[in-house]
Amino acid sequence: MHDLIIVGAGPAGLTAALYAGRSRLNTLLIEKMVVGGRILMSESIENYPGFPGGIATQELIGRMESQVKALEVKIVNDEGLDIDCHKKTIKGLSGVYESRAIIIASGAKPRKLNIPGEANYTGRGVSYCATCDAPFFREKKVVIVGGGNAVAEEAIYLSRFASSVSVIHRRQELRAAEILQEKMQENKKINFILSSVVTQVKGAQKVEAVTIKDLLSGKEYDFNCDGVFIYIGYEPETSFLKGKLEMDESGMLITDENMATSVEGIFACGDCRKKGLYQVINACGDGAVAADSAYKFIANQG
Ligand code: NAP
Repeated sequence: MHDLIIVGAGPAGLTAALYAGRSRLNTLLIEKMVVGGRILMSESIENYPGFPGGIATQELIGRMESQVKALEVKIVNDEGLDIDCHKKTIKGLSGVYESRAIIIASGAKPRKLNIPGEANYTGRGVSYCATCDAPFFREKKVVIVGGGNAVAEEAIYLSRFASSVSVIHRRQELRAAEILQEKMQENKKINFILSSVVTQVKGAQKVEAVTIKDLLSGKEYDFNCDGVFIYIGYEPETSFLKGKLEMDESGMLITDENMATSVEGIFACGDCRKKGLYQVINACGDGAVAADSAYKFIANQG
């Protein structure tokens, strides 16, 4: 029996664990993949305060992890499959974990285009992680789909390896931060295919082309490339909580300002909860608030 279970060891879960550990709660942190979560799909982070010029995400996460490990927080590798809100248990692949309070920090996973060829060529040219796969595309031609901050940062990163990076976006304007758009415009390897969508990924053993539809003219054409990077947003990792905790139509958990979910003693923080801004800095802020709320909940239980 633990005082607190935290599901997910991204920045939100790690910060919750840090605060819980410092409050001397007997804390179990459950992570299904690697400590750090999806932020590790980005090479560096430039807008985390205190690191002018940015910091490598590996380093930032490494620092957070060692801070947590110095407190007696137990980290297990398992996947949360179900929750019993009344008993405050999490059922995982390797067992059932019991606690007095739970924090969900399960994060989000990349959204798929759901077009022909996408699944077939995943790992053979289609990727959702430039940091992981960019070195495979040295001097190759790649496309990157989307128009947000992730596309901007990853297009710039890919340009260090690829011979050209074509940003394909469904509207004429990108939604990425101005500073990132300026950096993309200055980069000679990056070009833009706007008001266009990718409708198919083609190839033989590996990706050889994508079919692009120009939304203004309605015309479709094939565009040769070796890699397709997809950055069209994220979906919360909350399917195991469906019907148990209140969420919106996209699966984002509904919380109040104290990170309390619809069930007493269960809190949520980071990218799995509905909010206005999805950044590492406020994921950490959420984690601190969730741990404080969990501590108060446990203390009130006596
Ligand atoms: P995002 O900001 O939600 O942008 C997703 C982009 O994909 C949008 O441009 C959207 O087009 C496009 N899109 C969505 N569905 C599509 C589809 N089916 N087909 C084609 N295009 C589609 O997602 P993100 O850039 O991955 O970032 C996710 C979150 O992390 C955001 O909150 C972002 O601010 C944050 N983030 C922050 C940083 C940073 O601050 N440095 C870095 C990375 C990510 P429309 O524009 O037409 O909607």
